[in-house]
Amino acid sequence: MSCQPDIFTKVYHWLKSKQSCLLCDAPSQRLLALCEDCETELPWLKSHCIQCALPIPDPHALCADCTHNPPLFSKVISPFEFTFPLDTLISRFKYQQNWPYGQLLSNLLAQYLNHYFDQGGQRPDLILAVPLAKRRQRQRGYNQAQMVCDWLSKALALDNPKHLLLRTRETISQQGLNAKARRDNLHNAFALSEPAQIKNKHIALVDDVLTTGSTCSTISGLLLEQGAARVEVYCLARTAKPLTVSL
Ligand SMILES: [Zn+2]
Ligand SMILES: [Zn+2]
Repeated sequence: MSCQPDIFTKVYHWLKSKQSCLLCDAPSQRLLALCEDCETELPWLKSHCIQCALPIPDPHALCADCTHNPPLFSKVISPFEFTFPLDTLISRFKYQQNWPYGQLLSNLLAQYLNHYFDQGGQRPDLILAVPLAKRRQRQRGYNQAQMVCDWLSKALALDNPKHLLLRTRETISQQGLNAKARRDNLHNAFALSEPAQIKNKHIALVDDVLTTGSTCSTISGLLLEQGAARVEVYCLARTAKPLTVSL
């Protein structure tokens, strides 16, 4: 009888470590559902702006937008560029409820952050998901940014208070809006239920993809105004410079 739990534990570990790669179906030979070859081939973010992580040739410089009109967050940490196959994986996670893709990418982000902390990057006091507009969350049934935040919180033992950051007003999609229209659209769209919880805290905002950064910058403004010491952004992927849309 006494040997039973041991056997169960061994079988459990064997099953758990017997993962297949989610991209090529080959045995992954490790706890991650991704083989080493596919991991190497992913579009890792290379040289980028030191503030907003926009892909640019000089790895020690600010991009033009951060030079002339810097966002209110201090830094963006993103392991990947939002290009194939990352865009497809995120889209399947976000719109087709393919949770294993979301979990895999969140685990890779957690690994990347662990490395960042090991290299002297400051651990945040708490992480907050970018809230989805209520109507969109009702339609979709979940907030993918909150799911990433939950997986990160578990993997990195980071405090992740729910219902602290709220979306108080419906906003239209930011896609296709110019900078001023984006700012107007987001004005007063967010609030904090208990501002005292963020006083002097280092906060990391979590989103799936960072495109223009205007939503995260607006929320950072609110957090700093309410007493946060520092705001960084963690995301799965960063887009390259979006095409300029003239209205
Ligand atoms: Zn593979
Ligand atoms: Zn920048």
